[in-house]
Amino acid sequence: MKLVFATNNNYKLKEISHILGNNIELISLSDLNIREEISEDFLTIEENALAKARYIYGITGMDVFADDTGLEIEALGGAPGVHSARFAGDDKNFDKNIDKVLELLTGIENRKAVFRTVIALIMKGREYLFEGKVKGIILNERRGKEGFGYDPVFLPDGYDRTFAEMTLEEKNRISHRARAFMKLKTFLAELK
Ligand code: IMP
Repeated sequence: MKLVFATNNNYKLKEISHILGNNIELISLSDLNIREEISEDFLTIEENALAKARYIYGITGMDVFADDTGLEIEALGGAPGVHSARFAGDDKNFDKNIDKVLELLTGIENRKAVFRTVIALIMKGREYLFEGKVKGIILNERRGKEGFGYDPVFLPDGYDRTFAEMTLEEKNRISHRARAFMKLKTFLAELK
């Protein structure tokens, strides 16, 4: 089965093709010569994922999926949420984003947070959504050098290491993204 993954991120492409396995042939946007940045200015993670998938479906007519992720911090009313990438500015700087989160949480006891990934799949013109979540807390300071984004300050519930202190394999066993993609994989497997 062939599916377009609406991303320009080659790292993600590799990670996800590993999760989905050999039965699914992933086609990237660069394979299709689509190089523009697709707008992600919507109000929810769901809308962002759907908009990316619809955009590519509109151009190609091919079966396609797109993902979008946000970190939702309870004491911040769900922020940065859909704004996770650009929380501290348009340069999408991971360090500045973490600094902003830590500053906003200074003196706040409730550190609960959840990483949430939504995948939008368009198959034969029908739309489907899959969600993956992982709960945890935001630490007061960074720990670890692996991963990316908010990983150094995110401690998943039931673990004593942050995402940035885990290997990629360990993180991929429990991560929001992996959980969402396992749901997609199960769905695709049941189609056959
Ligand atoms: P995207 O929708 O996958 O591009 O994710 C949006 C933003 O959420 C990223 O720029 C990161 O700041 C953050 N993010 C997404 N996934 C992760 C993760 O696994 N660890 C840490 N931060 C993440």
